[in-house]
Order: sequence, then structure tokens, then C-alpha cells
Amino acid sequence: MSKIAFIGLGNMGAPMAHNLLKHKQQVSVYDLLPAAVSKLVDAGATGAASPREAVADADVVITMLPAASHVTSLYLGEEGLITRVDKRALLIDCSTIDAQSARQVGMAAQEAGVSFIDAPVSGGVAGATAGTLTFIMGGASDDVARARTVLQYMGANLFHAGDLGAGQIAKLCNNMLLSVLMAGTSEALQLAVANGLDPSVMSDIMLQSSGCNWALQKYNPCPGVMDNVPASNDYNGGFMVKLMNKDLTLAMEAAAQVGAATPMAATAQSLYRLHQRGSGNDVKDFSSIYKLFE
Ligand code: NAD
Repeated sequence: MSKIAFIGLGNMGAPMAHNLLKHKQQVSVYDLLPAAVSKLVDAGATGAASPREAVADADVVITMLPAASHVTSLYLGEEGLITRVDKRALLIDCSTIDAQSARQVGMAAQEAGVSFIDAPVSGGVAGATAGTLTFIMGGASDDVARARTVLQYMGANLFHAGDLGAGQIAKLCNNMLLSVLMAGTSEALQLAVANGLDPSVMSDIMLQSSGCNWALQKYNPCPGVMDNVPASNDYNGGFMVKLMNKDLTLAMEAAAQVGAATPMAATAQSLYRLHQRGSGNDVKDFSSIYKLFE
């Protein structure tokens, strides 16, 4: 059994840590919010009063934090974890951040003699709860092989994308495509509706035609076409518009760094930004972009 420290017990981190406990792992937890720690302690985790206390004796440290600034300050800041952990520990950051920051932390860890990989996830809160996340890892093969032994308790698909930072790049490329697919699917369905067609019939036609894609198959953006998707629950639950905008910003930054042209993503980003300005839209599921085309 591994001793695992889990830091960042928010919408994603809490259910992920719960799954580690379900698989009888020894888990010590820390979050800035004491209430988040208490819930995990009730489920069998050991609560820590600081990140330093959480990682003491840990074989594996997992972080699931909002953004790059939180990740770099936790690992590299004054109380930087890379100098506090045992040298045999493996550090796994599952947050979605820019690849450069992931590489910066990874290189600093290497210099301190500690292993680090980036392992952002796809699958959202539902996947985190069900233990079916996709982990997209960047780092050395040995470290990735070690990470698999723990990540398997929280995910169904574990990919090694390449060197340090590659996990973040792969995740951003996927979400960039998803933003375009969702916006395009919404545009097509709304055109059909505006011309008097039934969106369910139109969806069935596209599902069997060349426009078929993941948004139509699993996540139809038109209310009432599919059960159990955010569109049929007033766009609650799922992947928030503000998080899609965060990922699109990271994707555009990654594109700028290598001079890549991303005109489809640029258009999608403008659409999602415009949409986010609508009252309450920031916390709605990203498929609510459908309403922008009404
Ligand atoms: P969240 O805001 O719900 O949770 C973040 C948690 O981190 C909070 O509980 C906060 O108190 C804690 N935290 C912040 N700084 C900390 C620090 N220095 N030490 C300890 N705890 C700290 O966010 P989330 O939805 O769980 O997302 C986490 C990451 O996962 C983000 O990078 C996000 O982009 C990514 N992600 C989210 C989803 C999703 O659907 N929510 C899907 C895929 C990836």
C-alpha cells in the first residue's frame, strides 16, 4: 500500500481522494478550506494542518489545484514542497496549467533529486466521482510507470503523452477541439431549429452522417434531446464555461509560444468569452454555448 498525500480537495480533488480511500490506500489530505479536509477525514483519511505535514513520509504526492500560480507556489515557494518531501517520493500534479509552469516545477524537482510528472485529467466531476478519469501524463517513463500504480484507482484511461509538460499540451489540444465541436454542433442545431426542424430528428440525422461527433453522441447541447446531460438540467453540473475559457486561454498561449495558427480556437474563444459575459453563464456547463446561437 502506498502512503499518498493529496492536496487540493475541491470539486475534482475530493472525489479523487475518496476513490483512493475506497481502494484502501493510506491517504493524508490538505486543503486551505478546513471543511474540505474534515469531509475526507470522515471518510477515513488523515487530516493535515499544512502541506508540509501532509507530505511527511508520503511515497506519492498528488496535487489538484485551481491554476499555475497555486502549483508553483506550493512546490517552489518559501515552504516549497520539493525540498520538504522524502527523496523517494513521486510528485504528480493533476491540475490543468500551462506546460511551461509544469516544466519549471519538474526541472526544479529534478535538481532537488525528486521525481515529478504532470498528469492533467479529462472526464470532469462525473469521471472523478466514478473513478473513470482519463489521465494524460508527461514525464520520464519510469515515473509514469510508478504513477500508474496509484492513478489506476481514480481513472480508466492512463496515457503517457511524452516528456514533462506533454500531458498539459495534450489536454489543451483535446479541450480546444472540444470547444470547437460544441460550438459548431450548437450552430448547426440552431440553424435547423430556426428552419422549423425538430432538434431530436436533426441530431439523429447528423449522428448517422458525416457531421457525427462526440458532442452529438454523448453531450447534446439542445435541452430535451438527451437525458442525463447538463443541457437537460438547465446546464447545471458538467464543465463550467469559465473553465473552458481558462483552458482556451492556455491553449492560445501554447500556440503563441510556437507560432502555431489556431483560427478555429480563436473564434471559439471569442464565442465562449462573449457567452461568459451573460448573467450567471460563467458557472453553467459549456454546452450552454447553444443559447448564444438562439
Ligand atoms: P476547485 O476550485 O473546486 O478546487 C480547488 C481546491 O484547491 C479548493 O478546494 C481550494 O481550497 C484548494 N486550494 C487552492 N490553493 C491551495 C493551496 N495552496 N493549498 C491547498 N489547497 C489549495 O477546482 P476543481 O474544479 O477541483 O479543479 C481543479 C483543477 O482541475 C483545475 O486546474 C481545473 O482546471 C482542473 N479540471 C477541472 C475539471 C472540472 O470539471 N471541474 C475538469 C478537468 C480538470
